[in-house]
Amino acid sequence: MVFRLLRPDSKSVWNIQEIANRFSRYKGIMEGHKVARFLIAKTIFAEFNESFSEQQLEGLLEDKSDEFRELLTLDQEEIDSRKIQKSNYLDLAAAIANKYLEKCIFCERKCGINRIEKQKGYCYLTSDSFVSSAFLHMGEESVLVPSGTIFFQGCNFGCVFCQNYDISQAWKGKRKIGDIAKKVDCIQLANIADRLAEKGAFNINYVGGDPIPNIHTILGSLNHQKSNICQLWNSNFYLTSKSLSLLIDLMDFWLPDFKYGNNECAEKYSGVKNYYDIITRNLKRIHDEGSGEIIVRHLVMPNHIECCSKPILDYISKEVPNCVVNIMAQYRPMYKASNFKEINRTPSMQEMHEVKNYADNLGILWEPVS
Ligand code: SF4
Repeated sequence: MVFRLLRPDSKSVWNIQEIANRFSRYKGIMEGHKVARFLIAKTIFAEFNESFSEQQLEGLLEDKSDEFRELLTLDQEEIDSRKIQKSNYLDLAAAIANKYLEKCIFCERKCGINRIEKQKGYCYLTSDSFVSSAFLHMGEESVLVPSGTIFFQGCNFGCVFCQNYDISQAWKGKRKIGDIAKKVDCIQLANIADRLAEKGAFNINYVGGDPIPNIHTILGSLNHQKSNICQLWNSNFYLTSKSLSLLIDLMDFWLPDFKYGNNECAEKYSGVKNYYDIITRNLKRIHDEGSGEIIVRHLVMPNHIECCSKPILDYISKEVPNCVVNIMAQYRPMYKASNFKEINRTPSMQEMHEVKNYADNLGILWEPVS
């Protein structure tokens, strides 16, 4: 295929045994002998109706999650023989997401506003989701290429150095969102995903901005998606525990950012509280309870090696050792970064070497995906 010519490392990376071992289920889905998690969830019957309270729905979700995990132990033939249920685990997760939308608690900003009634919180999005672009991305990590990437408009962060500020921030209050991105409902989003799969994508990569404000639309689309394809969550990962409970069984692959090694730097540059506590909590959970197939993206920032890069790598090696890490040199002082002297430059060669050497000394696997 053409993409193998454009990115030969997307093939050769699978010759690295440790990569094949850590991403074995993802590889199995790519090769067609494993089934994506959301397709398994379609076979789990979930009986509920509109009279159910939020608490009742959450209780049912826990039961269905237990059922789901038992199914993961079945062999492929047994999974293939199961029937799709009319009312299933995916419907349940989407119904809960729509409840959360009425007092939005998708991310840890917990704005508490009713997005269904068109109220806007920090991310400035009502219940409508907008896709700014969707295409086969050849620039993602080697194992992910070609990636069926869907960029959502809007973000729950306010990074002063944002490289995508046109889709995350710059439109707020200035231009109509519909002029710069296409409004999509669940069925339209599913059609976009299926088209990307038909074109040869190895995964459906939800990104932005950030996908977190769009959890309801993404979950709602899964029941309409037809392709057996890996579902990938590519996010700042500042979502609440409740939101993560909706996704944790359904995502096959995780691509969380891990930018800051403490809460203070995160508050200063991204305007979020308790960042380190929340990211480590979520990361630990997907590592221990989710698919565990994870590439952590760490963007190396100038003058932030001691306070951010090293503590992050220490944490990963101790607490979530199966993560592979993309040590990223792509930081550029965009958007409002010039207001902060210490980050108003790219990271130096020496800083990048220092971070990579530190990762090597901790035994972290990073090179094949960086
Ligand atoms: S997703 Fe948006 S509205 Fe909801 S809590 Fe986060 S920033 Fe607020």
